[in-house]
Parts: sequence; C-alpha cells; structure tokens
Amino acid sequence: MSWSPEQKMQFLFHLRQKGVTNPRTLGAMEKVDRGLFVKGHFEDRAYDDMPLPIASGQTISQPSVVGLMTQALNVQPRDKVLEVGTGSGYQAAILSHLARRVYTVDRHRRLTRESEKLFESLGLHNITVISGDGSFGLPEQAPFDRIIVTAAAEDPPGPLLAQLKDGGIMVLPVGQSDAVQSLIKVTKTPDGLDYEELCPVRFVPLIEGLGSE
Ligand code: SAM
Repeated sequence: MSWSPEQKMQFLFHLRQKGVTNPRTLGAMEKVDRGLFVKGHFEDRAYDDMPLPIASGQTISQPSVVGLMTQALNVQPRDKVLEVGTGSGYQAAILSHLARRVYTVDRHRRLTRESEKLFESLGLHNITVISGDGSFGLPEQAPFDRIIVTAAAEDPPGPLLAQLKDGGIMVLPVGQSDAVQSLIKVTKTPDGLDYEELCPVRFVPLIEGLGSE
C-alpha cells in the first residue's frame, strides 16, 4: 500500500496538531510512507495515528509518538545513531534521512531480516541492521551521538548510557510494562546526566535475550 497526496497531507497535518512541528522531523516523515511498513489485515489503518500489530507479536509505534521521539532526539546530519527495537523499520527509515549512519537492533530475527530487505528496496544504504539484545548496545560501534529505545525498560539501561557521547541525547520510554510509562530525554553533559520527562506513553517491554523467530 502507498499513500495518496491527500493521505500524506492529512498525515502531516495530524502530526503538527499533535505537536510535531520541527521542520526537519516533518521533512523526514514526509519521505517515509508508513503504508510500506504495515502488512496484512491492518494495511488500511496505516495512516491512522495508532500503533498497529506487526510480525513476531510486536507493534509499529503510533506515528505522533514516532514524531515526538524523533523531534526530541534532535538528530544532526553528521550523527551516528543507535536505535534499540527495529520492529517494522519505520523509525529507522525516518532516522536514516536525518543522520549520517543508523544502527538498529532487534531481538527478533524475522523483523531484522524483513526490515533489511525493505531498506534495501528503498535505497536506504546508511542503515545497519543487527539481530541481538539491544539493551547492551553495540560496544564495537560506540560512542553514539544519539540513542533511541522503542521498547520500555524500568530504568535507562546502563550500557546504553555508557555508550552515549558527551553532549549526546537518548530518548526512551521508562516504566513498568503493564502501566503507563513516561517518555524521557536524557542528555549527557559535562556535569552528568540531565533528565527531562516529555509525555506519557505506552510501549511493549524491553526484553532480555533473543526472540524465538
Ligand atoms: N521502532 C519500531 C518501528 O518503527 O516499527 C517499533 C518497535 S516495537 C514498539 C518494539 C521493538 O523492540 C520490538 O520489535 C521488540 O522485538 C524490540 N525489543 C524488545 N526488547 C528488545 C531488546 N532487548 N533488544 C532489541 N530489541 C528489543
């Protein structure tokens, strides 16, 4: 499924209404058709502002939350970005239009395999997809200018904080998986870590180890 000019216009209008106003974020989201990341039964809901089921029992996040997270991450053109939780690949595709290089990790091999194929077909050559437990980050590629986690942990994982550059930003949901969580922005400053609470969100949990498929 791909979007019509009207669907695209409405999609972007809704994002603005939800507080996604940063022009670079909107520009990147305009380049990525969410309909290509949603398959099967839910295809006709691809442009609705709601999370939708994807393979391996996971979800593609709500577009306005993707927009708010991308905006808070404030990615710069020379940045090296780590995403934990590839899922459908939608968020990584948006980041690829903003950053120099994106590393994205998921614990489900099926999701990383399918995303990799999709990135290839879309000509998004600055994304590296890795299967594994992303809560340990990617020590061999660290440090990162930006880190985004798209699954909820009770606290920001220590290895990810350690792999963030000085001056770097990490955006992630924190809280218990069965309750409303908070989206937070962590900035690494010379004086330590600065925490800012952005809004309530609900994400699938960050789970240890590799998935079954
Ligand atoms: N960013 C995704 C997108 O654009 O479609 C949505 C991600 S979905 C809400 C959360 C993802 O986090 C799932 O695909 C899940 O497999 C993954 N995940 C959960 N725990 C993980 C971990 N420890 N390491 C890597 N991925 C993990």
